[in-house]
Amino acid sequence: MNDIFSGLTSVINGENIKALKTPCYVIDEKKLVSNGEILAGVASRTGCKILLAQKAFSNYDFYPLLSDYLAGTEASGLYEARLGKEEMPSGEVHVFSAAYRSDEFNELLKYADHIVFNTVTQLRKYGFKAKACGKSLGLRINPECSTQEGHEIYDPCAKGSRLGVTREVWDRDMTPDVLALLDGIHFHTLCEQNSDALEVTLRAVEEKFGDVLSKMKWLNMGGGHHITKSDYDVETLERTIIYAKEKWGVEVYLEPGEAVALNAGYLLTRVLDVTENSGVKIAILDASAACHMPDVIEMPYTPPLTDAGSKGSKPCHYRLAGPTCLAGDVIGDYVFDHTLEPGDLLVFGDMAIYTTCKNNTFNGMPLPDIYRLKADGEFERLTEFGYKDFKDRLGKS
Ligand SMILES: *Cc1c(COP(=O)(O)O)cnc(C)c1O
Repeated sequence: MNDIFSGLTSVINGENIKALKTPCYVIDEKKLVSNGEILAGVASRTGCKILLAQKAFSNYDFYPLLSDYLAGTEASGLYEARLGKEEMPSGEVHVFSAAYRSDEFNELLKYADHIVFNTVTQLRKYGFKAKACGKSLGLRINPECSTQEGHEIYDPCAKGSRLGVTREVWDRDMTPDVLALLDGIHFHTLCEQNSDALEVTLRAVEEKFGDVLSKMKWLNMGGGHHITKSDYDVETLERTIIYAKEKWGVEVYLEPGEAVALNAGYLLTRVLDVTENSGVKIAILDASAACHMPDVIEMPYTPPLTDAGSKGSKPCHYRLAGPTCLAGDVIGDYVFDHTLEPGDLLVFGDMAIYTTCKNNTFNGMPLPDIYRLKADGEFERLTEFGYKDFKDRLGKS
C-alpha cells in the first residue's frame, strides 16, 4: 500500500473498521499532524504565516489540532469567516469574496481581521468603514500569468476571469484615497501546483505590481501550493517567500486548503451489487461520485483506492459507480486480484478535501457520517446525519 493509505495500514483489516456504517468519511488525525508539521516548518524557517483555506476542509472538530501548526483561517464569505472565528479563535481570520453583500458586511466585520477585495469598486464601497473598524485591507490582483493547463475552471488567470484586478484596470480605477486604505496585496492563481509555478507567478507579480508592493505591509500568495505532497520542492517555496519579504519588506501569507488535509481522509463504501454491460463488470457502491466526491466528476479525476491496481496489472476489472440515477455517476475503472461481491468494503483515499464541505443529498442520498481516526487507531464518530438533514434544506417542516 502506498503513502496515501499509510495511516490506515494498521487498522484496515481490523474489526473496528468493519463495524463502521458505510458510506462514511474517516479523517486521519496522524496525517493532519504530519501535514501540519511540514507547514509549520515552512512558517518557522521563513517567518511567513500559513492559514487554512476552509473551502477545501472545514471539519472544525480538527481545528484545535490544526491551530498548533497554522496561524488562522481563510474564508470565502460570511459563514466560513464565522466558523473560523468560532472554532479557531486563537488564529487570524482572513476573508476574500468576489463581491461582498451590503446586508452581510457589518456582521463580517465582527469576524474578519483581514478583508480582501476583488475590485477597486468594492474596496471603495466598503474599505473606509472596514478601515475605521481597524481591519487590515487587501486587494486581489490578477497577474495574468497562467501556469496550469487543462483545467480552465481552476485557472483564475484564464482570459476573461473575474478574479483579481489586472494592472490595466488598476491604472484606470485606482485613486490615491483608496490606495491609501490598502495594507496588502493578494494573489491566488495556482491549483495543486509545485513551487516552480509560484516562482514564475511571483516574477509576473513583480513585473506588473512591483511598484505598489513596497508600499504594502503584507503579500498573500493564496492557495494551490501542494506543499505536503511528497515531490513538492519546499526549498524553492521558501526561497520565493524570503525573496518577497526582503525585496518589499512585506509579511507573507499562504492560504493552502488541499495541502493542509492532503491524504488525510478516506471514504469507506461497500459494494451493493454487481452488474454487467457489453463485457464491462460494474460494481454499484453505497457511495456516489455525484454526491460524496463531486470533484471526481468536476475535475475530473479517478481517486485512489486501496487494493486496486493500474490497468492490466490485476485480473479482475470493474467499473465502480454510485447508486444514484445519474448515468455519469461513475467513479472510475479499477482492477483487483479478486472478484467483487456485495458487502465488500472499499476504501478510497485522499477524501478529506473538497468532499465533506462540498457533498450533497441529490437523489435523497444520505450524507455520509464523519469519523475521526485517532492516533491510537480508534475510530470516533463525529456526526449523525439522517433524513432530517435531507429534509431541512428543502422546505419547512
Ligand atoms: C481555493 C482557494 C484557496 C485554497 O486553494 P487550495 O487549492 O485548496 O490550496 C486559497 N485562497 C483562495 C482565494 C482560494 O480561492
